[in-house]
Amino acid sequence: MPGFEAFGEEERKHVNDVLESGVLMRYGFDGMRNGHWKAKDFETTFAQRMQSEHCQLVSSGTSALTVALASAGIGAGDEVIMPTFTFVASFESIMMLGAVPVLVDIDDTLTLDPAAVEAAITSKTRCVMPVHMCGSLADLDALQAICNKHNLILLEDACQAIGGTYKGKPLGSYGDLGCFSFDYVKTITCGEGGAVITNNKQYAINADQYQDHGHDHVGNDRGAETHPTLGYNFRISELNAAVGLAQLGKLDTFLAKQKEHYTIFRNALSEVNGVTFRRVPEGGEENYSFLNIFLPTTELAQKAHKALGEAGIDGCFYWYTNNWHYINGWEHLKDLKSLGNVPTEIRNQMQDLNTADFSASDAWMGRTISILVKMGWSKEEVQQRGATMAEAISGVLKKEYSL
Ligand SMILES: *Cc1c(COP(=O)(O)O)cnc(C)c1O
Repeated sequence: MPGFEAFGEEERKHVNDVLESGVLMRYGFDGMRNGHWKAKDFETTFAQRMQSEHCQLVSSGTSALTVALASAGIGAGDEVIMPTFTFVASFESIMMLGAVPVLVDIDDTLTLDPAAVEAAITSKTRCVMPVHMCGSLADLDALQAICNKHNLILLEDACQAIGGTYKGKPLGSYGDLGCFSFDYVKTITCGEGGAVITNNKQYAINADQYQDHGHDHVGNDRGAETHPTLGYNFRISELNAAVGLAQLGKLDTFLAKQKEHYTIFRNALSEVNGVTFRRVPEGGEENYSFLNIFLPTTELAQKAHKALGEAGIDGCFYWYTNNWHYINGWEHLKDLKSLGNVPTEIRNQMQDLNTADFSASDAWMGRTISILVKMGWSKEEVQQRGATMAEAISGVLKKEYSL
């Protein structure tokens, strides 16, 4: 997945353009910047690549989620439905606004189970936030139908699935809003950065203002601009945007390489009796940044994960016991441990995560191993890894499961 595997001339050139002018800020200083507008250029190019009308670049994927929610008018006490398997940024971005995260089960897509979403809707629900984890996607048609029926906003977190598609549309462009991360380990990176895309003009205006202290960005005198509403600072710096602009130019090459490597892994593991694959909703195409497999039981998945490590295969994730990506590890969220007072709305409305039943999620996550697909390997190396993984896993299954 990581774009940092492929830093080169292009990144250096764009960064040097910025350093030579010395204008590290994305706004203003028109006379000094030698015509370089890295953040703006990124936004134009990215909106086109994502077949969306608007793109707002921000300082991280987490801030992209916060800005997206805020620009859709979501605030204190509004409920946002999110999955149990995701990155901690999901609930952080919601709670930042005083809004209430409502965690619901995933299914064999490893993303939101539409039936669980529908069951969680209350009069306070405003938004459904599917997270396209580990390169694959949620059942967007089913979620869109639920959102239409209940008049909810559909916000796609595509931070881990940039370049994947659903029914021919880029992931992130299907919902009302889509969010991306360009942190250091994502498919393309800015160092730190994120983006919001939307076709909704008002949301785009709101996002533009919210991420820069409410500035209206009208005219070319920053000091004279008005502030139609409150905003904060989630701006990206011109230096980070410069790295991202270079990486964006390589996105399709990265995706092609990932697909090639993923396919070799998948073919190798398809030969192993007892290994099955995550379900990709019909009409969807992954971005191939991970190969996600199921073992027959939780116990076998743990043994297979251990065997992969012992065989020297790095980059295999067992999320069920990984404290960043699954609810089991989120003690700070379950117990609402915060440095200061937690907003009353959250305290009053939040489900009790210590007693909530997520056995349906446990059943899938316990059996899941995600295998990172890197771009930098040679073809021989990928083939060797595929063969080693197949051997390590079938060794466990033969011994323990008489397959
Ligand atoms: C990385 C990531 C984020 C947050 O992005 P940052 O840029 O690290 O803040 C949000 N959601 C998902 C699914 C991610 O993987």
